[in-house]
Amino acid sequence: MRIDVVSIFPEYLAALDLSLIGKARRDGLIDLAVHDLRDYTYDRHRTVDDTPYGGGAGMVMKAQPWSEVLERIDESGPLATRPVGDAPAAAATVDDASSTEAEAAERPVLIVPSPAGAVFNQAMAYDLAEHRHLVFACGRYEGIDERVIEWAEDRFDVRPVSLGDYVLNGGEVAVLAMVEAVGRLLPGVVGNPDSLVEESHSDGLLEYPVYTKPAQWQERDVPEVLLSGNHARIARWRRDQQLRRTADRRPDLILELDPESLDKADRVL
Ligand code: SAM
Repeated sequence: MRIDVVSIFPEYLAALDLSLIGKARRDGLIDLAVHDLRDYTYDRHRTVDDTPYGGGAGMVMKAQPWSEVLERIDESGPLATRPVGDAPAAAATVDDASSTEAEAAERPVLIVPSPAGAVFNQAMAYDLAEHRHLVFACGRYEGIDERVIEWAEDRFDVRPVSLGDYVLNGGEVAVLAMVEAVGRLLPGVVGNPDSLVEESHSDGLLEYPVYTKPAQWQERDVPEVLLSGNHARIARWRRDQQLRRTADRRPDLILELDPESLDKADRVL
């Protein structure tokens, strides 16, 4: 997957060199570039903002640097990297060739972090992980001139996305969260893919509580069932814990559950 991030604070994105995402970049699974928006300005002060039309507090990010950087990214094309696991071109079959053409025709997804966007969730992370090229536009101040968002729709699949119902100073923190949530779903990024299946939100429920050695700590025991070696009992206990925890902490998720996904033994304790 190719990822481009545009920001006036490129250093903010240095955390994407660390841990599993950093390793995925070094292994060639994620081709990630960070662009400084100020490189697309022409005045001495490298100005990216101006006062808002209509008055009001704060400044608004100017359209011109945004359109130039986004054009540059778009023109560098989605085939800068092959998708993970693709066969080399020489070994491609006719079917492979047509699917490669279809992928090449796919517009990059432009994610515009904004508290006024759709709230990011695991389903969105899975969807974004299916795309070859993601571009993130980090706003600052009062946000980006709205005409950029309209203009970008000719080139990109534009998606305003919020990290949650609160206001941050800029889009960078939201991008760190989204790149990590999406990147860890790409094949080969997380060592044991089973850990993606069993975690919170993968099946609409929160994860069960987890424990490690020692079996007793500060007079607190690990639940006896986990020491039993009885896999069926352990699976049942974990499922009950998932249901109970979700009902306690996120009753909204219980209401959204597909009744078909419940089994006869499911009960909220
Ligand atoms: N005036 C804007 C509003 O009320 O919708 C808020 C601007 S905020 C101070 C500056 C930038 O931070 C936004 O353009 C966006 O990039 C980012 N941002 C703030 N809150 C966010 C959130 N909840 N999710 C994603 N990005 C956010």
